[in-house]
Amino acid sequence: MISVTGYKQFVQCERLWFYKNIVADSRVKNDLFRREVTLLSKLQTVQAWRGTIVDNILSKYLVLAINNKYPVKKDYFIEQALAMFDVQLEYAVSKNYRKPDAVLTNNPEFNAFFECELGEGISDGEINQAKDDIITALTNILDDKNFIDYLKTAKYVISQRPLIYNFDRFSVKAIPDFIAFFDDGPPHIFDWKVHTYGTASYDEQLIAYAVALYKVGTIKPHADFPANISKWKIQDYKLTEYQLLHKDRIKRDYDVTDDKIEAFGENMSSAIIRMHIAGANKKYSQLSADNFSTTEYIEHCQRCPFQKICKTNSYETANKYAVRDEHFQD
Ligand code: SF4
Repeated sequence: MISVTGYKQFVQCERLWFYKNIVADSRVKNDLFRREVTLLSKLQTVQAWRGTIVDNILSKYLVLAINNKYPVKKDYFIEQALAMFDVQLEYAVSKNYRKPDAVLTNNPEFNAFFECELGEGISDGEINQAKDDIITALTNILDDKNFIDYLKTAKYVISQRPLIYNFDRFSVKAIPDFIAFFDDGPPHIFDWKVHTYGTASYDEQLIAYAVALYKVGTIKPHADFPANISKWKIQDYKLTEYQLLHKDRIKRDYDVTDDKIEAFGENMSSAIIRMHIAGANKKYSQLSADNFSTTEYIEHCQRCPFQKICKTNSYETANKYAVRDEHFQD
């Protein structure tokens, strides 16, 4: 299974992709090396974490409010976000994920910071900034009356829905942040961004979501997709990136054009050929890290969660760090 994020990881560093997508597996319990890699694959920076909290709150409560025609109460959303913030902060700084019985997936408390495992820890200033950013992002979108009124005209909305389709020899997965379906209009796909500057654009990511929705909607629509989904051409789909942290609430709309669809297909095809040659469609037991080359760019390594184990790729190294961290807790 690959995703746009996955193939970008592969292009950046094949070895990183291997650790994250083949070695890491939350279902594996008794292999300490794989458990350590699974844990490392879940490390996130404080900046990424604040975005995850905003995504999760919108995914849960905005969907509930729009679909049930409840009022959108900003204070309630923020209250829930701050409760999530406190619980996950405590979990991460206490390194509860290092406890032997720690649940690494589907655990609402789970959080593990890159800075605490591989950096110098996090400061009070960074924590306070993250909290302020979450409040600002939620305030910006929930006070955006025109936008909320627009969402209320949708037949219904879905969020964080995995869309899976076949492409060449791989299954491709995309998980758009938010999709609004309408009785008399094409689907509208949204991508929330919680970035301080919001200067980068996410054209290709949104095209990838459109392709995934179109494929799933026309080949095997989900049970709750509207009956009219196959009536729309992919070029009719609406795409919007919403920079939630920006004071001007920047919304970038993107057209779905034939050129963009073709460019996306070509990028996917060339990445898939490279992945296939490296054996990326095989199982863990059939592969070793040596099948996957390391990046030439040191700056990728500095931000990589697998830097502790990459040079030796050994169980002993991973286990040594796991043991050290257990002692550190004591
Ligand atoms: S440490 Fe560097 S070479 Fe190793 S997996 Fe990470 S990015 Fe790739």
